[in-house]
Amino acid sequence: MITTASPKTSLPVPTDRRLEERSLRARTEAMSVLALGDGLYEVESESEHTYLVDLEAGRCTCPDHVFRNVRCKHVRRVAIEITAGRVPPLGRIAVECTDCGESVFVDEDVDGPFYCERHRIYPGATVRDRETGDRLTVVDVSDRRADAVQIPDASTTVAEYGTNENYDPDVPVVGTVYPHATVARNGVVPASLKVYVFPRTRLERVRTDDRN
Ligand SMILES: [Zn+2]
Ligand SMILES: [Zn+2]
Repeated sequence: MITTASPKTSLPVPTDRRLEERSLRARTEAMSVLALGDGLYEVESESEHTYLVDLEAGRCTCPDHVFRNVRCKHVRRVAIEITAGRVPPLGRIAVECTDCGESVFVDEDVDGPFYCERHRIYPGATVRDRETGDRLTVVDVSDRRADAVQIPDASTTVAEYGTNENYDPDVPVVGTVYPHATVARNGVVPASLKVYVFPRTRLERVRTDDRN
């Protein structure tokens, strides 16, 4: 899993109120914040030091907190970044979309691959098979892994089947049909259609204008 930090930058200072010294420095100094999970955030300071913030406890490993027991500029900066939506709140972490690298916030105990809103798939979505270029329609997004799902006619798992070996065996499987029929968004499939199962990462979301 690739976790992503906020860009190392300073923030604008509001002009309509006076900030106390630590709040001011929480904004004017260039810092980057990385959510580590378990309520911990790593802050890289302007002086290139790295401190660990425990947000719930309001603790930080910097001298200002350790020796003076104050709410330091790092704890304040983490709170500011969360409020602004640039850093994930408690219980979530920032990861990269598998297809485009965009940062997405996900529950910290959930396994990938992860996708941004543009690359997320659901029953009825159109996808492209990266191996053949074929367009397919998604009918089922499972949470079962490719190496745990058997292909009925082939006596192998999805992960071992043909060119699926190019993709990680621990990704979830996705059921698809060739789009010669309309599939309802709730995943209802006409009985005559054959469902083809792929490792999630072999499929790439295709944007269509008709998303209904
Ligand atoms: Zn600190
Ligand atoms: Zn994406």
